[in-house]
Amino acid sequence: MKALVLDEIGSAFRLTDVDIAAPVAQEVLVEVKASGLCHSDLTASSLGGWPVPAILGHEISGVVAGVGPNVTRFAAGDHVVASLQSHCNDCEACLRDDINMCTNPGFVARAEGEEPRLSLDGEPVTAVANLGGFAEQVLLHENNLVRIDRPIPHEVASILGCGVLAGAGAVLNAAEVPEGATVAVFGCGGLGLAAIQAALLVGASRIIAVDIADDKLEYAKRFGATDVVNSAAQDPAAAIKELTDGGADYVFDFVGRPEATKQAYESVGRAGELGVIGINKPGATLQIDIGPEFIWNQVRIRPIFNGSTNFVRDVPRFVELYNEGRFKLDELVSRTISLEEVNDAYAEMTKHIGRTVVTFP
Ligand SMILES: [Zn+2]
Ligand SMILES: [Zn+2]
Repeated sequence: MKALVLDEIGSAFRLTDVDIAAPVAQEVLVEVKASGLCHSDLTASSLGGWPVPAILGHEISGVVAGVGPNVTRFAAGDHVVASLQSHCNDCEACLRDDINMCTNPGFVARAEGEEPRLSLDGEPVTAVANLGGFAEQVLLHENNLVRIDRPIPHEVASILGCGVLAGAGAVLNAAEVPEGATVAVFGCGGLGLAAIQAALLVGASRIIAVDIADDKLEYAKRFGATDVVNSAAQDPAAAIKELTDGGADYVFDFVGRPEATKQAYESVGRAGELGVIGINKPGATLQIDIGPEFIWNQVRIRPIFNGSTNFVRDVPRFVELYNEGRFKLDELVSRTISLEEVNDAYAEMTKHIGRTVVTFP
């Protein structure tokens, strides 16, 4: 099968033929129909942390082509979405439904010494995060998949595997924003737009989008932003305090820069909450005034990992919301490309609003 292989850390992807094994045990062979380009794959391709050659790509939608003998939840022909949330379904965290905290995520991989799932000229190829979605087929553990019972377009389904759940999950699962609350969202990329839609869904009374790009702010209005603030042109904390009469009840920081995290913190109203989702660089610090007002204001700071999501529970939930016309996904996919075009698409990624998705005939 054709796949985009990363031969060296930091190199471009190379389109070539890779051998894929037959499914054993709890494995599922999936014919990939769509594979989203996430910025984190670009970062991963320059940082590494796993053996090369490797295949990246983790936002996968496809159709089951074959199953191992111990697979219980999938059959050939099922439409499926894959997820990075590798988990064992057996540890204490998994049993209390908190699969983000699984203590044995390596459970989904083949054991050392077994024939590799992927190989190139007889040498093993790493499927990064046990997924490897930039390929015509993927061979995964069934715990990395969820079935879509009422199929939706694959390019739309693919983006449910990562950014949408993390962005919307921050609002719905982690902060549990109540109806009528005021919300501000820093950073209007894919995750931020999903958070804005989730805030609309719960009935937030005011949804303030903050970004440094006017076109992204304009786009955010289509997803439910009631107000926009360009933080390059004005002090966002002052603007938000003005709009909300003292600060927003819930502020979400998707940016991943200390200045933005500080501005977001300063935008929270009394007894409100700052959710930090954007990942800052190692060693980054947040300097805040912890004088008397710190106690008086009682602002909570909550780091949110992966939107506190559980993809097995949440993907079907968003498919349903999409089918009911209550959650926009089509508008989050700005263009579709072929595997051959992935290198070029990554090179110009920051210029585009919305997701680029690789589609397969
Ligand atoms: Zn991603
Ligand atoms: Zn587990």
